[in-house]
Amino acid sequence: MATKFARRVGDLEASSIFRINAKAQALKTEGRRIFRLDAGDPDFETPGAVKAAGQRAIEQGYSHYTPIGGLPELKDAVIGKFERDNGLRYREDEVMVTCGAKQALFNLCMSVLHPGDEVVIPQPYWGSYPAIAKICWATPVYLETSIEQGFMPSPEALAEVMSERTRLVILNSPSNPSGQVISKQALEALGKVLERYPDVFIATDDIYEHLRWDGNQYYNIVNACPALRDRTVVINGVSKAYAMTGWRVGFCGGAADVVYQMNKLQGQSTAHTAAVSQVAAAAALNGDQQCVRDMVNAYQRRHQLVQTGLATIDAIDYLPAQGTFYCLPDFSRIIDRLEGVDDDQQLADWLLDHLGIAMIPGSAFGAPGHLRLSYATSDEDIEEALERLNRAFG
Ligand code: PMP
Repeated sequence: MATKFARRVGDLEASSIFRINAKAQALKTEGRRIFRLDAGDPDFETPGAVKAAGQRAIEQGYSHYTPIGGLPELKDAVIGKFERDNGLRYREDEVMVTCGAKQALFNLCMSVLHPGDEVVIPQPYWGSYPAIAKICWATPVYLETSIEQGFMPSPEALAEVMSERTRLVILNSPSNPSGQVISKQALEALGKVLERYPDVFIATDDIYEHLRWDGNQYYNIVNACPALRDRTVVINGVSKAYAMTGWRVGFCGGAADVVYQMNKLQGQSTAHTAAVSQVAAAAALNGDQQCVRDMVNAYQRRHQLVQTGLATIDAIDYLPAQGTFYCLPDFSRIIDRLEGVDDDQQLADWLLDHLGIAMIPGSAFGAPGHLRLSYATSDEDIEEALERLNRAFG
């Protein structure tokens, strides 16, 4: 029987991220002190020079349509960024600008997935990966990792989940939600497996590239395995590195044939992101990068606070993050011992109700028993929240 709404939306689950965000906000409005360790958004302002470029763009009349794939000056900045930071050379017809990294992923999935295709996604993952795959009538297939293995996808596990139906593999490093960076060696080993599947596309979601303190040069699957260049789409954007989530600018690089299809698709949906945002993004990419280093230093310092705080609580297992502004502590032993709490969803509610601490249930990221802890908030709030956790469970 026909239902009122299309199955592609009917089957989508409302993310528990939005549920916890809304509940935390509602409690705050009631006047309670709430520690927002649930944020997926930098707590910094967009750097002044970038804002000024946006303001100038308004004055200069950037109020009209731009080319679908982005303003030429922004595409040039993207090409320059890929060469400078990633050692990757793209032509003008091999890059495009999108409404956030999310739309680049959406365009790619809509352009390459057939109904029934499989999309391989390492666990834990950003929840939009399986959701977008499902919108395209594809099936997410999860590549399991564990906290003991450092959440690192192994080549053996990848080989095991690849099938004739695999059409796309999505890699994300540093990872939301674990904060782990996939090592050069691991990428090379994964690349060897992927080379055996010439019809499979790869997405590397590099949105947290700059938010790292592992001390290494950034490395993605194309760096590890240049032979994969023409079937890999490198996805990135300005949201996280430049605290520009609301400007909605992402971009990607890939072979001209796939980028052409993604352009056609975007031309029939959003067309392009705001002209003013594009000018600001070009200023971010071309400008002084000290603002990024300053924010990274703050995230690293806050991560240290988290690490120090979690170390005082025996019942929480924890893997130090190497980047992002997240980590993914394992709360299973806390769940076992708390009465009336049977899973990470209930624990997230319990922590909000009893301690005023907002964190996202790990099951939203394929990591049941864990909670995603975001440190995109003040040092003071992080310290107080960890003290409360210590008093409750230490
Ligand atoms: N990829 C990952 C892993 C993310 O965490 C996010 C934002 N939460 C995005 C992509 C989307 O970024 P944007 O705001 O540029 O769409």
